[in-house]
Order: sequence, then structure tokens, then C-alpha cells
Amino acid sequence: MSSMATLHYCSFYICAALLCVSCLGYTLIQGRVARRQNQLYILLLLNMMLCALSSIVVAFHEGRPGAEAHFIADTARFVSLVFHASLAPMFGYYVLLVCGSAWQLSYRGLALYASPFLLTELLILLNPLTGWVYYYNDLFRYCRGWASYTIYVAAFFYLAAGLLNLFRYWRAVTSAKRNALVFFIVLVVAGILVQIVWSSIQIELFTDALAGLGLMLSIEDEDGRIDMATGAYNRRALAFDLKNFIGTGQVFQVIGVRITEMASVHRVMGSSASDAFLRAVADYLRTLLPPYTIYYANPSTYIILIRGDNEARAAEIADQILARFGETWKGGKVESLLHAAVTRGSSPKNFPTREDVLFMADSPIPVKETNTVLSGRDLGYLLRRLEVERALHRGLEERTFEVYFQPVCELPSLRITSAEALLRLRDRVLGNIPPAEFIPAAEQAGIISALGDFVLEEVCAFFASGVPDALELTTIGVNLSVLQCVQPGFADRMKGIVARFGVNPSKINFEITESVAANDYGALDAVIRELKAGGFTFAMDDYGTGYSNMQSIFALDFDLVKIDKGILWSAEKNAIGRAILDNSVRMIREMRRKILVEGVETEEQIRLLAKLSVDYLQGFYFSKPVPKDEFVALAREQRNQGIAAIAQGAAS
Ligand code: C2E
Ligand code: CA
Ligand code: CA
Repeated sequence: MSSMATLHYCSFYICAALLCVSCLGYTLIQGRVARRQNQLYILLLLNMMLCALSSIVVAFHEGRPGAEAHFIADTARFVSLVFHASLAPMFGYYVLLVCGSAWQLSYRGLALYASPFLLTELLILLNPLTGWVYYYNDLFRYCRGWASYTIYVAAFFYLAAGLLNLFRYWRAVTSAKRNALVFFIVLVVAGILVQIVWSSIQIELFTDALAGLGLMLSIEDEDGRIDMATGAYNRRALAFDLKNFIGTGQVFQVIGVRITEMASVHRVMGSSASDAFLRAVADYLRTLLPPYTIYYANPSTYIILIRGDNEARAAEIADQILARFGETWKGGKVESLLHAAVTRGSSPKNFPTREDVLFMADSPIPVKETNTVLSGRDLGYLLRRLEVERALHRGLEERTFEVYFQPVCELPSLRITSAEALLRLRDRVLGNIPPAEFIPAAEQAGIISALGDFVLEEVCAFFASGVPDALELTTIGVNLSVLQCVQPGFADRMKGIVARFGVNPSKINFEITESVAANDYGALDAVIRELKAGGFTFAMDDYGTGYSNMQSIFALDFDLVKIDKGILWSAEKNAIGRAILDNSVRMIREMRRKILVEGVETEEQIRLLAKLSVDYLQGFYFSKPVPKDEFVALAREQRNQGIAAIAQGAAS
């Protein structure tokens, strides 16, 4: 063959080598080197590149005259075979790694898996002595020996093993990944078959390299899995990896790190500061653990997954993380102490399903429990949470939710002029569950809207009965969770419900609590505007409990502000508390909103508030929240007996 013809013959090798170099460069630039899967991928590329280069050397020297040419050809042939024979086993193992099943292989399993590979390599290494794999005839022509076919047999074994494994763990691998893997296995097999049938078309390495490129684009690419702000894996990646770990029956350790004051950092210092703190925590975690074990699961929680059953090591790491939270963190230019609640458990022992891990990531952690790592029995709070969630579903099914009413009295007459609707759940298994417990659980479980609809329907049915009008109630307050308000179609649903009962929307006063994260204002503002335009009224609830930015709070168009009981109670205790109450009342009045004070329990408090001339009072002094009939009886009794007149003595 002329040099030109040889070059033509080599073009597939050259392309293969170029492809491998490009993939290698890109992979290294992207820094995808941390995981075992990444490292094997890089080895695969290097291996293919060496195969291609040695094959080119073979092509240029084989069959040429001279002992030197023969020696070079022989050596290059030998090298190329040594590497070539390891390609399929490496690729097969790569598939096992991607599927997550490689982690289950015991040493014996691994030895068994490697034995065809070791056998072919042994045959190749012995070839200089035996000539079983290949030999040169008297004319220095290359000839295949019987053992050369063992290389193909082994290659098919590994590709088949990869495919079978993929089918076995079909559901544990994301569909994009498994489609890519199937496609590339088929491509590689096609390359081998073409080359077996037409030995002059040296296409096999090229199809291998193409598959390599495909793997880089489809499987090694992790951009969609990374959380931009923190550099950790995102929640989607967590969900997929958990599915994979659990689907392939792996044992693994889970550590949860919840930064407890992230929401207030966000509110007080803004989103860039809170991002900076989050990044600082992620950076710290990466000094303890490989980056691919760290996931940013929700706005304040990192989840760490460590393969294997080494609980002691996980416990050590968890303790170390908790200890670090005793020191300050630097978020950009700001320094601050952050507190964390650290939880730890293992799967399948503590977390048998993926949902259990995600549930832990999303569930609030009892506040008092932030100075020890919660593990084992301490994770009981999650069970309670789960039970509450079940109770919620039971409550919806069995219609055991009930709406209670608490009177709201006007100053100075102390007449009951409105009420607040408060949800109650008496479960047949858990007994009474306080709303402070079941409302957040309902938000987490995604059923808060159903509860909200139920409360509004009950209130509307009450109005439709005509009783509230007979009692001259102006409005009834209905609590809304912010989560519920920003769901699509919320305003229309609310309008639909009042229309269905024929109730005038101005009778409904929606209460929204003050502690709204700053970034929700836009959406919330739009909903409030729309509903106000429809005739509903709004109250800001729990004023004085959050850290909100007053300006943005008052940018929302509330009719009424409900001052939290905490403010009233501390006003009685000391001068500072008193000043806060006075100032709050003055400021809200300047904003031209009506004022209600909650938590009124004593006559003294009534006197104090009458002096400040707030508009409405609500509290146990008048009544606890009671069932509808009791409330009606109470309001009737007040009208008939003129209790207002008696109570007025207390107010003056
Ligand atoms: P909230 O909206 O601030 O409701 C007032 C809470 O203060 C009620 O607790 C009420 O029983 C209590 N309270 C009223 N007066 C006094 C008093 O004088 N002293 C004391 N110590 N407490 C008083 P409850 O019913 O346990 O509700 C707790 C929270 O659960 C509510 O706080 C509200 O945020 C939430 N919630 C209740 N029902 C619903 C609902 O239907 N939807 C939503 N989204 N949240 C609700
Ligand atoms: Ca309320
Ligand atoms: Ca309140």
C-alpha cells in the first residue's frame, strides 16, 4: 500500500483519536473528575485513543520490508490488542456504575465479572510465546489465531452484561440515561459486527469513540443536576439518585443539615446575602466530603448521601458539621452565626423509601432539638409528622374537620361584630391535633388548598343560613396560608365558592400572616388586588411576629391589621413592650388601617386597649374559639341580655 492509501485506510482511526482528544479536553475543562464513573470515563477515552494511535502505527509498518518495520508493527499490534481487549469490560463496568449496581458487587462478584477479561489478557500477553491470538506468516503477513475470537466473545459478554443489568435496573435509571446507554451499546455492537464481516472497514474504534462522545453529552453532563447558587446537586438530582440507590438495593447513610434561620437571613439581609451564606456552608461541606455526595434539597436544607453501611463514619461527620455551626460563617462581606439542626439515619433502616428521605428534608425539625444530631429514636418526630399527614387525609375522607368560631368585639361597645373561623381536627387515632401542627403539615403535603376551600365553604354556608346577618355580623375572618394564595387559579376558586353560596364577598375577611418571605410579595400582591377588586377584604395577621420589611408589608393593600398577642402581653410587662405597642398602633393608624388586638384575656388589657382606642378586640376574655352553634348562642345571648353594657364598665 502507498502511504496515501494507508492514510485512507487509517482515516477512521484518526477520527476516533480526534474524537477522544476532544472529549478528554472538554471533560477536563469541565472538571468532571470526582466520581468513579467520571474517572472510568476518562480511562475509556485514553484507552480508545491509545488503541487508535497504535492501530495507525500498525497500519504504517505492517507488511513493510525490514526487520525494524516488522518489530515496530509487532509491538504496536501487541499494545493495541492489550488495550483493545479491555475496552468492552471497561464500558460494561461503566454501565454498571451508571446504573448504580456496581456498588453491590462483592469481591467475588467482581472477580467473576473480570475473569473473561483476565483470560483474554492472559492469552494476549502469552501471544509472543504461543502465537494463539495472532502470528505473522513467512511473508510477514498478519494472521489471526484461534484465540483472537475470544476477544470478541468477551466483548459480547460484557456488552450483554451491561444491557442485562440495564434492563434489570430499568426503573432505577432516568429514562434519558438508559436510552442513551441502549443506543450506544447498539452502536458499539454494530461497529464490531461490521468489522467482523468486512475486515477492511476499520470502523469499530470509530463507533466506540462516537459512543464516547454521546456518553459525554448525555451521561457525564451534569449541568441539569447542579444548583447554580450553591454548586451542590439540586433536588431533582437528589430524587433521581435516591431512586437509583433504593432501586438497586444499596445501603447508604443520610445526613440532613437544616440551617434554621435561613428564612430570616433572607428577609433581613436579602437574597444575595442568604445565597452567600448557603454557598459558604456548601463550600464547608465539600471540605469534608466529595462534592457528589452533597445535595441542596430545599431552600434551607442540605442532604448528604454516603454509600455503604459505615454508620460510625456518618455519625462522626454529622457531629463535626454540628460543631462547625458553633462558629460564625462568612456570607460575602457579612459575618454571622448560623444555627443548624442536623439529622442522621441510614437507608433502608431508617428511610426505607425515597419519599422518607425527601420527607425528612422537608419536615420541620423540633426547635429545641438543635444542639444534638438527631438520629435513631430521635427521628420519631418524623413518624409523628407522617401520622399527622395520615390524619389529615383521614380527616378529608371522613369529613372530621370542623370550623370553630371565635368572636371579635368592637371597641368601645364590646359588641360582637365579627368572628374568626378556625379549623379544628379531631382525629379518631391521634385525638385533637392543634392547627399549629396540622396546618404546616397540610402545606407540606400539598392539601392546604383543600382545607382552605373547606373553611370558606363552611363560612359561606353559615352566611347563607342568614344567622350571621340576624346577629349583625359584618364579616368573618378566614385564614389563608401564603402557599395557598399563590397557587394558580386561587382567586377564581374563592370567587366561585362565594358565588355558589350567594354570599356577598365583602362578608369575607381573609387573614394572611405577616411573615411572608420577601420574594413572594409580587405574586401575593396580585392575588390580593384581584380579590379586593372582587369585593373581599383583607387582614394582616400576627403583626409583630415576623421580621418583615414594614414598607413592603404595607405596600400590600390590607384593610385591617391584627396585632399579635405577644405584643399585647409584653406591653403589660415592661416599658419597652408598652412603647412597641403604642408605636405599632400609631403607625398602623397613620397607614389608615383598622386595628385589631389579639390575645385579650383580662379586663386590664381591655382598659389599656380602650385608652389606645384600637378598633377591635379578640381573645379568651370574650370566648375561646367554639363550635358554630355555641358561637351563635353566645352572640344571641349578648344581644338579648345586653352583656355589652355590663362589659362596658370594664372598658371605661
Ligand atoms: P391565628 O390566625 O393567629 O389564630 C388565633 C389563634 O390564637 C387561635 O389558635 C386562637 O385559639 C388563639 N387565641 C385567640 N385568643 C387567644 C387568647 O386570648 N389567648 C391565647 N393564648 N390564645 C388565643 P388556634 O385556633 O390554635 O390556631 C392557631 C393558628 O393556626 C392560627 O393562628 C392560624 O395561623 C392557623 N389556622 C387555624 N385555622 C386555620 C385555617 O383554617 N387556615 C389556615 N391557613 N390557618 C389556620
Ligand atoms: Ca388569624
Ligand atoms: Ca393571629
